[in-house]
Amino acid sequence: MRARPRPGVEALRAYRLSAVEAPVKLNQNECPYDLPAELKEEVLAALRAAPWNRYPPMRADRCREALARSCGVTPDRVLLTNGSNEAILALFQTFATSGVVVLPEPGYSMAPTLAVAAGARPVGVPLRPDLTVDAQALAQAAQKHRAVIFLASPNNPTGRAATPEAVELLLQQAPGLVVVDEAYWGFSPWSALALLDRYPHLAVLRTASKAFGLAGARIGWIVGHPDVVDAVGRVLPPYNVNLFAQAAVEAMARRPELVAQRVREVVAERERLAAGLRSLGVEVFPSDANFLLFRVHDAERTFARLVEGGVLVRDVSRFPRLEGCLRVTVGTPEENDAFLRALRAAQEVAV
Ligand code: PMP
Repeated sequence: MRARPRPGVEALRAYRLSAVEAPVKLNQNECPYDLPAELKEEVLAALRAAPWNRYPPMRADRCREALARSCGVTPDRVLLTNGSNEAILALFQTFATSGVVVLPEPGYSMAPTLAVAAGARPVGVPLRPDLTVDAQALAQAAQKHRAVIFLASPNNPTGRAATPEAVELLLQQAPGLVVVDEAYWGFSPWSALALLDRYPHLAVLRTASKAFGLAGARIGWIVGHPDVVDAVGRVLPPYNVNLFAQAAVEAMARRPELVAQRVREVVAERERLAAGLRSLGVEVFPSDANFLLFRVHDAERTFARLVEGGVLVRDVSRFPRLEGCLRVTVGTPEENDAFLRALRAAQEVAV
């Protein structure tokens, strides 16, 4: 007898990165800077003092309070998850009552997979040709299917934040929950957190993986109305956020000036990188995140040449509307220089 997965799961492909490796890794939108040594010591001291034979604090109160303060909300509006992927899954499991999730396409690639994992059907709504969100079309699709709306702002892999007007239109016309995934919150010109007071069916998602530079800690959080937090809390497994994740994110949430300074450096490098790409005659799309989308003549070939030059980026050219496009994470100044050098060399070979 063969155990068969559910039909939706059978059609899924496991999340995989490109099998190739290169010394300069600009393919995962990570923060290029590790935690300062003294902050690591602080986290390690907290871990040494904690009992490892016991479950971690159930509601992670200290950590939740620190994050709530950093978001300007009360702790009853914050719920911690094991990376923001777990938050997306739990929100779909909890709120996709009609069994449908609508989302922009191209958008965050794991979101349709997580919809299927939650037993729901993802329905994609194309971005406009200029790669901005078509809020009216998303709202209409959501109404038709009585669906949950999911949208990443800034969007991945395109890089742009939705406008406040687009998000507000969605909130006004949505038949149910609207999830605004702010994984790239530090780099964005605005946040949907400001809309929480007026729209109790809004859930904002954040992660420590990008602006906090804590991708290794696997921690994300939902900010929403206490009723939303309460409902999702019934679905999540207890103790989903381990001791290390709690200690690390608490340390970073208490250092807003360090986070802001790193974000400033990444944004300055992003602009330098965009100018460098343009000077090579490459089309670069506007970005509100820690990565850039750009278009080349032959994405597959350029990707391979960059790997030969020691640099790994993400080939996103198979997404609809993104023919010829690659995505590069903003790295350290040295990594960005290595990328620009490798791209120049790749172009010289191409002509
Ligand atoms: N949302 C978006 C838009 C992302 O790009 C990512 C990671 N690349 C995530 C969520 C997942 O982040 P986490 O590491 O918190 O699971």
